[in-house]
Amino acid sequence: DIAMYRAKLAGGSCYQVFSEEMHVMARDRLSLEVGLQQALERDEFTLHYQPIYCLKDNHLYGFEALIRWQHPTEGLLSPERFIPLAEETSLIVPIGDWVLWQVCRDLQRWQEQYPQHSFCVNVNLSNRQLMHPSLVEQVLAALEQTQVPPESLHLEITESVGMDKPEQVRDILLALKAHGLKLSMDDFGTGYSSLSYLTNLPIDSLKVDRSFVKLITETNQQHSVIDAILSLAKGLNLEVVAEGVEHAYQVIRLRELGCDYAQGYYFSRPLTREQVDQLLVERYRA
Ligand code: C2E
Ligand code: CA
Ligand code: CA
Ligand code: CA
Repeated sequence: DIAMYRAKLAGGSCYQVFSEEMHVMARDRLSLEVGLQQALERDEFTLHYQPIYCLKDNHLYGFEALIRWQHPTEGLLSPERFIPLAEETSLIVPIGDWVLWQVCRDLQRWQEQYPQHSFCVNVNLSNRQLMHPSLVEQVLAALEQTQVPPESLHLEITESVGMDKPEQVRDILLALKAHGLKLSMDDFGTGYSSLSYLTNLPIDSLKVDRSFVKLITETNQQHSVIDAILSLAKGLNLEVVAEGVEHAYQVIRLRELGCDYAQGYYFSRPLTREQVDQLLVERYRA
């Protein structure tokens, strides 16, 4: 009957739209993948640096390096657009090496300009990059060649790291620690790590995910989740960095709760290298 016929028609056209979308997605993915392969050779990646401040005395603690892709036709692409694909295709390994080397070269220059000031740069490591047999070698070569002190380089790993190979991950992290690098657990609280897992890894700090910082509103005085994370961290002797801090009242509350460091739009958006140069002049030459 007519109703059935309409439903079928609607269903049919729905199917068609869906398959066209699938087609567009597959095509976009393919062109992204091809572009990603060429991006390194064409020098299209760039790093932005987001400042991290100490909540106790407001000094500039360091920066988090965040990659962007200056795409030839699509403009500046956020890592959310291409890092997942880079991870799937293993391109994350050479891209991650590029990030490490670029960060060390930038740190070398800044440390030569401001030898009396020390600050760190945090680098995000994908699990696949961490598990790659050449990682430790790459890190040490970059540090050695640029003469950057290992304690200036902080590596951010995520909770999902080594869920399948915990022993292997522990050994890699211990090797990095033995060479003086600092390790930070990123997006803390969003994953599925157990406490025993956390205590078994040789990490120095936790980064509290933005979703928890968001719970601090102007009127909400109950911050039991952040409170619990901070006491846990203190108990394990870990430092805490709050991410995604956007408001002054969050800074005040985090300070009261004993959080050590913070980063977020309240302080600064991620900056270009030139903007970092400017910031350092303002802070250190004043
Ligand atoms: P992430 O490591 O959690 O980095 C923090 C993200 O939050 C960054 O996004 C940063 O720009 C953004 N952010 C900082 N402060 C605020 C704030 O106050 N409010 C809001 N709404 N957002 C804030 P971005 O740069 O787009 O990076 C996204 C993710 O891409 C990163 O999340 C990280 O997982 C990944 N990523 C970035 N660079 C690299 C890299 O070099 N290697 C790898 N493997 N992953 C990277
Ligand atoms: Ca991070
Ligand atoms: Ca994070
Ligand atoms: Ca994140």
